[in-house]
Amino acid sequence: MENTVFDEALKNALYDKSHACPVCSQDFTAKTVKVGKNQVVSIDSDLYARYSVVNPILYDALVCPHCGYAALTKAFDSLLPKQKEWIKAQISTSYNPRSYSEYTTLEEGVHKHKMALLSCLTKKGKTGEQAYIALHIAWLYRDLKDTANELSFLQRAYEGFTAALSTERFPVFGIDEMTAMYMVADIGYRLGHISEAKKYLAIVITSPGISARIKDRALDLKNKIQHAV
Ligand SMILES: [Zn+2]
Repeated sequence: MENTVFDEALKNALYDKSHACPVCSQDFTAKTVKVGKNQVVSIDSDLYARYSVVNPILYDALVCPHCGYAALTKAFDSLLPKQKEWIKAQISTSYNPRSYSEYTTLEEGVHKHKMALLSCLTKKGKTGEQAYIALHIAWLYRDLKDTANELSFLQRAYEGFTAALSTERFPVFGIDEMTAMYMVADIGYRLGHISEAKKYLAIVITSPGISARIKDRALDLKNKIQHAV
């Protein structure tokens, strides 16, 4: 009974949206989360937000079923002409179409994000974008309780965000610089990079004008690190 109620809530929280692929120009539809149907229930220390009905990350990676081009929703349409050529040459020519369930499973969410990461690397996308996709893959592995893969993708996200913080312009997908530094500190702590975590944390805590939300989390993390060492 509970499952039926949950399935109904899941169906009501999603709708079909059509997309035109910027690489092959063909149309396809994908489920999209409706605004306002889904509330944040809790947030992990590295800012993985848990929702009441549906995990929006599962529906955030779009894969064109015709040519294999994939990207996160916000980045899907923005491709330069030469990037389209690289995707066509390196992905579309060897793409074997696969079908996904109507309601994306965690495993399928991982697969779609890996396709998005592949397209991002192929289009020579920004390091921050690659890091953001890697972080979401790590989070899905966390839900799958696959710790080895979670840590491997957290490491990739950590390296990408630290590089992006020194070379690229923020915000990246809505994450501002101080939030990214806090996330890097927390991910670094999870990976055992304690001195780097402390370094980023010190910047966050002493930064003027930082949001209370991030500052409180940064102080919690500082406390956690002090008690762990
Ligand atoms: Zn396509």
